[in-house]
Amino acid sequence: PELEAAVTARRRPALSYELFPARTDTTFERLRDTIAQLETTAPDYVSVTSRTGHRNLARVLELTDHVLHETDLRPLVHVTSIGSSRAELRTVIEALLDRGVRGILALRGDQEEGHDLEDDEIPFARPLVDLVREVERARTAALAGGRMSVGVAAYPHRHPESPTSQHDLEVLLAKERAGADFAITQVFFDPAEYCALITKAREAGLRMPVIPGFVPATNPRRLERLAELSGVPLPRDLMHSLETARDEAEQRRVGVRWSVDLIARVLDAGAPGLHLFTFNRHAESLDVLETLDLDRWSATTTGDDR
Ligand code: FAD
Repeated sequence: PELEAAVTARRRPALSYELFPARTDTTFERLRDTIAQLETTAPDYVSVTSRTGHRNLARVLELTDHVLHETDLRPLVHVTSIGSSRAELRTVIEALLDRGVRGILALRGDQEEGHDLEDDEIPFARPLVDLVREVERARTAALAGGRMSVGVAAYPHRHPESPTSQHDLEVLLAKERAGADFAITQVFFDPAEYCALITKAREAGLRMPVIPGFVPATNPRRLERLAELSGVPLPRDLMHSLETARDEAEQRRVGVRWSVDLIARVLDAGAPGLHLFTFNRHAESLDVLETLDLDRWSATTTGDDR
């Protein structure tokens, strides 16, 4: 029985937090504190966003290096293709890999209206996945036989430029065929949208895990901005409750409760984990986790299937 206990572990749903690079040294100090607070929940990784054209590359590397060397966390670094040449992207991917990064989220990035693609610009995320795998093959010695983990974006609510959700699904399947290992979703507020995506994706043969992305929905202004950027409509009941809340403390209580209900329904439906868009704030994310109690969804596993 002791041996059995030793090889039996509780497998918790995957947990990750999204952070954006600091813009100043002062905000970087605050971010370090946020990361230390989030680390207490033992996330599987933290993701580091980046901006189109890598104008903020130095800040992305600053945050990545902090995560790599001053915490016990693993970074998943976002790389966006729009606004950079193929050669520049290759250099960025090589630099990440050489620093010790083993996880990349391959994204196209948001395209400004009227943006004319340069000849050597990678227009979609799928060929960027190809490029990451190409760099990986050329660097097998540095990886010592290990492998890069490559993630991509998925859209439970249609991507604003996509003609149909079916098109989104074809794109997701193509990204998996190109070598993606997992996907993280854009925010959504209706669990049925996530479930419909998973059902259709599995029927179409998608195998990789699709981690749902959530925002701790406590600040109405931040939510409006998010809806504007993502094209995802906001739930009226939530917005009404947040706007009529007496003060920030009540907004936080209402928003955390609402987010926890949404996440619980999606985990109940079988989602493999959760990714929290933190906006570089730890308080709301920690509230969500504490109220959620992820252990409720932990599966007991044996050494064989770990
Ligand atoms: P793609 O998969 O390339 O899709 C983009 C559009 O092109 C879609 O409409 C798709 O249907 C269409 N398309 C794709 N391939 C083809 C094809 N072969 N033919 C015709 N149409 C095609 N943005 C940032 O700038 N920085 C970040 O750090 C960042 N992090 C994100 C994290 C997550 C979890 C998510 C979900 C999004 C993130 N974004 C980020 C936003 C993302 O860059 C945008 O949503 C962007 O508009 C699309 O990126 P994508 O990788 O999904 O692109």
